Parts: sequence; structure tokens; C-alpha cells
Amino acid sequence: MSIELRNKILIVEDDAGICKFLKSALSTNAYHVLITDTGKKALEMIASHCPDCILLDLGLPDMDGNEIIRSVRSWTSTPIIVISARSMEEDKALALDMGADDYLTKPFGSIELLARIRAALRHTRTTSQNSEIGLNGVFQVGDLRIDYCKHRVYLGDQDANLTPNEFKIVALLGKHAGQVITYRTILKELWGPSASRDNKILRVHMASIRRKIEPNPNEPIYIFTEIGVGYRMAEDE
Ligand code: CA
Repeated sequence: MSIELRNKILIVEDDAGICKFLKSALSTNAYHVLITDTGKKALEMIASHCPDCILLDLGLPDMDGNEIIRSVRSWTSTPIIVISARSMEEDKALALDMGADDYLTKPFGSIELLARIRAALRHTRTTSQNSEIGLNGVFQVGDLRIDYCKHRVYLGDQDANLTPNEFKIVALLGKHAGQVITYRTILKELWGPSASRDNKILRVHMASIRRKIEPNPNEPIYIFTEIGVGYRMAEDE
């Protein structure tokens, strides 16, 4: 019976060696694995098999992975984790802005891969089932607590005294804890679609936020920097 309840993972990858590695890592962890090596077949399989998570290579023989992200996002929120050799920050930001949930740069190990898949699956469940935020209006990780009703952030019992813009940034990251949120997404959230692409102002805000919420601003434990791409809020496993 439990066979039917296993999470289905679709691998979209044209490199046979990487496919083999992914398949063995996922199968030994009780995932049901589907594999395809072209974008066209991937889109068909996503529609017909409804996978729980998609591992997507960007460099496919028949189309660019970003086209697949765009197409898939027009009709489903199935988590997409990009697996790519493209390590440029702009490539990561582009895929995330297109709607990918996460990004792994090749080469990566199976422990990291499995952790990212678990996080992606958890996020689908929390968004579909009513998260803690939806229930209580509160996000908590460690001593950090975001109160979405009062628009306040606390560290233990202490109000962190964030400014309204600082609160907006932390609130957005908290809603997507565990996921990378790109600079562009944060800038748009703060200042609307015509926001500038200048990340400098964000860095200034983040430095101030960290002074207020991190025990050691130089070694953050709540908000991590994905260099050149964005920020990620820690989450309780
Ligand atoms: Ca490839």
C-alpha cells in the first residue's frame, strides 16, 4: 500500500551519468523516480504523471530549461529544483525569478540533494495545508518570531524594533523560509514592479536587520546570503 504514497520525482536530464547517480540516490530513499532526457517529453510527463517534485537540468537537447519553468508555472506550482552546471549568479537568479523553487549547482552530493527535495516537498505541504503562519499569524525559528498580525519581529521576548521596510523583508523571507528569494523579488515586494535593480539598498537594509536579529551579524543563523542571488530564511527541520 505504501508504494502508492511514495513521492514521485521527475528527473529531466540528458546526461546519462548524472541520471544514474540521481536515480540511485532517490530510489534508495524510497522515492518513485521518473526520468526523461528532453524538454518536450518532460512537459508531457508533468501533465500526465503529476510528479511531486521536478529536478530540472537547464541545458537540454531540445529546449532551454527556463522555457520549461515558464511553461510549467503557467498551470502548476509543483516544486522545481534546477540542477545545472551553470554557476553564474545571473543564471540562478533568472531560474528562480522564472518560478524555480531552488537551485543546485553541479556537482552536488546526494545528502544536499535529498535535503533540498525534502524542503521542496515540505513547502508544497505547508502552502496547501495552511502553515503555522496561516493558522496563528506567526513564524518561528529558534528565538526569532515574526508576528504577522502585529507586524513585529521578536527575539525571545525582545522586540527587534525593525523599521517598516526591514519588517517587509523579514516577513517575505519568513513566508518562504528555506527557499532562496532573489534580490529582484524582494525589491519588487518593497517598491513594486518598477523597483530599481540596484541591490545596494537591500544590502544596507540587511546589514541593519542582522544587527538587530542575529546573535553574531557576521555569522548569521537566521537569514543566509546566497551570494549574488538573494537571501534564504532558516527553517526548523
Ligand atoms: Ca544537460
